Amino acid sequence: MDIEDIRQDVRSWLASNWDPNLDLIQWRELLADSGWGAPDWPSDYFGRDLEPQLCAVVDDELARIGAIGAAHSGVRMLAAVTLLAHANHEQKQRYLRPILTGEDHWCQLFSEPGSGSDLAGATTRADLQGDEWIINGQKVWNTSAHHADFGLLLARSDWDEPKHKGLSYFILDMHQPGVEVRQLKQMNGHASFNEVFFTDARVPRANILGQPGDGWKVAMTTLAYERRSFDRPRNPAAKAPSPAPIYQQYQQELEIANEPYKWYPQRAGRVDLVLQRAKETDAINDPVIRQDIARLHILAQSAHWTAQRARAAQKAGKPQGPEGSLGKLAASNIGRLAAQVHTHISANDALLTGSDSPMEGTIAEVLVSTPAGSIAGGTDEIQRNIIAERVLGLPKEPRFDDGPFREVRRNTSKEQ
Ligand SMILES: Cc1cc2nc3c(=O)[nH]c(=O)nc-3n(C[C@H](O)[C@H](O)[C@H](O)COP(=O)(O)OP(=O)(O)OC[C@H]3O[C@@H](n4cnc5c(N)ncnc54)[C@H](O)[C@@H]3O)c2cc1C
Repeated sequence: MDIEDIRQDVRSWLASNWDPNLDLIQWRELLADSGWGAPDWPSDYFGRDLEPQLCAVVDDELARIGAIGAAHSGVRMLAAVTLLAHANHEQKQRYLRPILTGEDHWCQLFSEPGSGSDLAGATTRADLQGDEWIINGQKVWNTSAHHADFGLLLARSDWDEPKHKGLSYFILDMHQPGVEVRQLKQMNGHASFNEVFFTDARVPRANILGQPGDGWKVAMTTLAYERRSFDRPRNPAAKAPSPAPIYQQYQQELEIANEPYKWYPQRAGRVDLVLQRAKETDAINDPVIRQDIARLHILAQSAHWTAQRARAAQKAGKPQGPEGSLGKLAASNIGRLAAQVHTHISANDALLTGSDSPMEGTIAEVLVSTPAGSIAGGTDEIQRNIIAERVLGLPKEPRFDDGPFREVRRNTSKEQ
């Protein structure tokens, strides 16, 4: 099938089905069942088996007539790729469709107070009792958990296996009495993250992904996608071409899904504002600042090309290369340098917020948001370890955590 055949197919399907008077969910149900909502997914599971590089034409056709696509924002795509790779038939049937229709929101329940970089050291426990796993423990830094219907939960199901082998991966219903979500306020004033506490929370036996002990392998799928997709825009624009209620429903959905990501452009450093600020403040005539600005633009442009190469490889269906880890590290270097350059340009005013501050507080928000880029999805140091060991083939760091996990020294010293 070539691009023109696909264009004709999707165009004629849209001609018979797109109706802006439908409710958003009703429309997305049609879209999901037709396979045009996620055409690169398998045809057995709401897709059309299309090569990823052929899917852009479907987006073009939807955009051409102002039709709304499947839900893609937020953590739901992390859930979708993980389910597609590891879920069984029943799980795929149950969970994939409401991801595409936008009915279900997801969050990632990986990090804990004592295990972030050392994710495999998770101590949230999962104990099988009859037909249910009983969950106790705490997660932290969980983006969007306050909106989530389901969580991707990594928990320890076997304390006698070595660290990486005693973990299991669960689909957890967030709306139950044993799950308490508390929002955390950040230094930039936003509240995107949460602490999540489990007290005898329950997961039906059927809601494990893979087998008990497969948790680490499944988590690697989620993390690979997260690291590869960090540079994608999180705020797709959606201008309503008419006052039909479906567009308002869509706008509301985007507002909720994108609320935790509002500050992400500032987290990336706002390289786009540097020249404008330099001209406004006359810093453009300072020879040292000019050099800083040039250095920043060179770094940003080369990272952009690396990201483009990674996307082209992904679209061509090639396995992930080193670009994911390199790109993530480059992004945090850019964020850090951009914050420095903004500080040199705006000097003391960079600290001000409010309507009379540089760019109404945007520059101050850059300064307090960029540190997150070198932590989220794996810190810079961890990315360097990954590049050293997996890309360059350098010797691994010495390990002191072999043997049964209950005997491994850790900052929560006992099995809890
Ligand atoms: C914006 C943002 C969004 C996030 N979203 C989520 C989410 O949705 N779900 C989720 O589960 N988590 C999320 N996180 C958490 C994130 O994954 C962790 O913060 C991260 O993995 C680091 O873990 P930590 O904070 O425990 O730091 P630690 O692991 O305690 O690290 C502290 C310091 O020690 C260094 N360090 C640790 N180990 C090594 C080593 N072996 N070698 C060299 N240096 C080392 C680290 O680089 C760091 O500088 C998010 C974080 C941020 C900032």
